[in-house]
Amino acid sequence: DSIYDVIIVGGGPIGLACAIEAEKKKLKYVIIEKGAIVNSIFNYPLYMTFFSTAERLEIGDIPFNCLAPKPGRQEALEYYRNIHRYFKFNINLFERVNEVQKQSSGIFLINTDKQNYEARNVVIATGFYDIPIEMNISGENLPKVRHYYKEAHEYAFRKILVVGANNSSVDAALECWRKGAEVTMVIRKNEINNRVKYWVKPDIENRIEEGSIKAYFESNITEIRENEVEIETPNGKVTIENDFVLALTGYKPDLNFLEKMGIQLSNDELKIPVYNPETMETNVEGLFLAGVVCGGMQTHKWFIENSRVHATMIVDYITSK
Ligand code: FAD
Repeated sequence: DSIYDVIIVGGGPIGLACAIEAEKKKLKYVIIEKGAIVNSIFNYPLYMTFFSTAERLEIGDIPFNCLAPKPGRQEALEYYRNIHRYFKFNINLFERVNEVQKQSSGIFLINTDKQNYEARNVVIATGFYDIPIEMNISGENLPKVRHYYKEAHEYAFRKILVVGANNSSVDAALECWRKGAEVTMVIRKNEINNRVKYWVKPDIENRIEEGSIKAYFESNITEIRENEVEIETPNGKVTIENDFVLALTGYKPDLNFLEKMGIQLSNDELKIPVYNPETMETNVEGLFLAGVVCGGMQTHKWFIENSRVHATMIVDYITSK
């Protein structure tokens, strides 16, 4: 029988957790991942520190050895690679799923950039880190504008503007400033986001207060040009010299991808996909959501610790059917 019991789309931590459960229940499964294993973590800033402690990132009851309470990107990559060494997943890397369609037989047809598959059940665990939320302003497409931040070196001794006041923006602003960049932040609200890691928040607030990092609160960036940017502030329009813009304005799941396979989204701006919270099954029978993709535009709602349980919920339900 060439038909899979379950195909898992996405090889992030939660896709892997689903595969562990599928193995336990002896289901015929494959994970299809468009990039490297745990590709989102691979694309994180090089020196980021997780807000979660190591044991909260564990899957399959395998201990996460880590000297500090909170691991960094490098250690998390090591951990999830070791998870694969241990479980030897059936996983196809660097293969992108283009479409998932339910055929009249009730069997799903999964089309990738390499081949087609058939499966009785499909789990979508595609996360939210592939599509940046755009600012939709003039100059956004200039090469000096970045929606992902890797490391500070390139920005040393340059004038950079960091857009946003969430964890990504704050980490990037502090790191770049410490490596010699002249950093300005543009922040829509009148304060640093409350979700910023509790040990980092005072650091950024003190740097702003002492004037080491300049911040425009209640302000918006309105235009980016080759050597300057324009900011709308409560005191009127300001133009400042600029070499790079780090537009760390958040990311969103591929909602078109979900809609194309028939998954309904909530009618408001949150675009939360419809699913049964007890089984994680969507409005399409046999089609499940797992991990952070479940939140729609509410990308901070789910994380590894509170979504790794999706794996057991889904596989238990599939095997009980
Ligand atoms: P992801 O890890 O995003 O995995 C989705 C996978 O699906 C990716 O590998 C992607 O390449 C693949 N994929 C997408 N589309 C396709 C397709 N069409 N075909 C094939 N494959 C596809 N969470 C925490 O719990 N603790 C933290 O401390 C934490 N820190 C974070 C820091 C940063 C900078 C960011 C951006 C996020 C952080 N998160 C943290 C959230 C974190 O990303 C998620 O908790 C975790 O990665 C979610 O796992 P996931 O498997 O649901 O999604």
